[in-house]
Amino acid sequence: ITAMHWQLSASGRSLDVFYGLPKDVFEKLAATHTIANVYTNDDYEPYARERDAEMEETLGKKGIGLKKFKDHVIFEKSEVIKDDGSPYTVFTPYSKKWKSKLADDSFASYPVNKFQQHFLQKESRPIPSLESMGFRAAGLEFPPESYKDEVIRNYQNQRNFPGKPGTTRLGVHLRFGTISVRELARAVMPMSETFLNELIWREFYQMILWHFQQVGKGRAFKPAYENIPWRNNEDEFQKWCEGNTGYPIVDAGMRELNATGFMHNRVRMIVASFLCKHLLIDWRWGEAYFAGKLLDFDLASNNGGWQWAAGSGCDAAPYFRIFNPRLQTEKFDKDLAYIRRWVPEFQEFTYPAPIVDHEFARKRCLEAYASVLKQDSITVV
Ligand code: FAD
Repeated sequence: ITAMHWQLSASGRSLDVFYGLPKDVFEKLAATHTIANVYTNDDYEPYARERDAEMEETLGKKGIGLKKFKDHVIFEKSEVIKDDGSPYTVFTPYSKKWKSKLADDSFASYPVNKFQQHFLQKESRPIPSLESMGFRAAGLEFPPESYKDEVIRNYQNQRNFPGKPGTTRLGVHLRFGTISVRELARAVMPMSETFLNELIWREFYQMILWHFQQVGKGRAFKPAYENIPWRNNEDEFQKWCEGNTGYPIVDAGMRELNATGFMHNRVRMIVASFLCKHLLIDWRWGEAYFAGKLLDFDLASNNGGWQWAAGSGCDAAPYFRIFNPRLQTEKFDKDLAYIRRWVPEFQEFTYPAPIVDHEFARKRCLEAYASVLKQDSITVV
């Protein structure tokens, strides 16, 4: 908002920024202005849907329309659905249909500049400060809005190694709309299909949140998984949060998250699997912890990632797929670059012993899941 504000100020215009419940703010504005319509972009999160429904009612009573538009995704809601009209719940067929829908105008940008004249506010008004809204600056560094073409071109081979700068860190910008997903997709498409697929995963989880609202309200996508007998040991949860489990790759991930507000995707999968499967702690605890820490926190993708790891999600990792932290380290952090960066003492006496033995935890997990899911296949990855 600050950047937009300064950009507009340069052309003698300004934003008016209000802090309060949207309903109350618009009540006040409607008392002093003639408003025909309120324009906004769609947001599928439960809070946003309730807020918009309430706004629609409040504004409607005053004869004011609420116009909502697609912005944060390339294909929204039911634009990519099965031939029988139902939503996809498996990624691969969804992504094929998504790609088949691409047309010349799918990535078209909106001619925003020509609407600038409608920002009638001429005199510059201050933007409410963080403190006045009850926040304080976290002091974390935000990744830039830019990326190197080289990262996209090498993405397929480099994206799984947390010790290398192989991903873009654009999550926070996609989340807050400071980079356009259309602009990004247009630019990366000729360079990497694997990268485009990740943007489609993002849209897949958005689509799931839109059609299956229960996932945004803390419920498992697959109802049978509601009955897993979680252990929910608070001490162990605390150790996981702090990065003191005695499993270096898990601890490195949690310490990276705590220090920077970011965690590499491969490591997000490892720490999430560890929490749900090795420690048998409810995925919702981990989901909430990530929500409080991630700069790129996005309800749809976070929930999708956690339910994927716990096995309870649509198109999730099967419950018997239990990441082995040692094998994951050998495959993805062979030279220990990532672990050394975040857990420099991992070979010292001061470093804790593993919180639980891997083989013991794996068997315990399989028994707990099988007790409610009644299946018995076993695999280790
Ligand atoms: P890049 O690898 O450069 O990818 C570019 C963009 O594609 C990302 O910024 C993101 O918008 C999208 N993307 C990439 N991978 C995925 C994916 N698997 N699912 C959905 N979108 C993806 N992503 C979030 O944006 N917000 C979250 O809160 C979030 N929580 C997660 C929780 C768990 C447990 C897991 C396993 C994954 C989560 N992800 C989340 C997905 C993924 O880890 C991040 O998008 C990615 O690590 C962000 O880093 P990047 O910007 O460098 O990604």
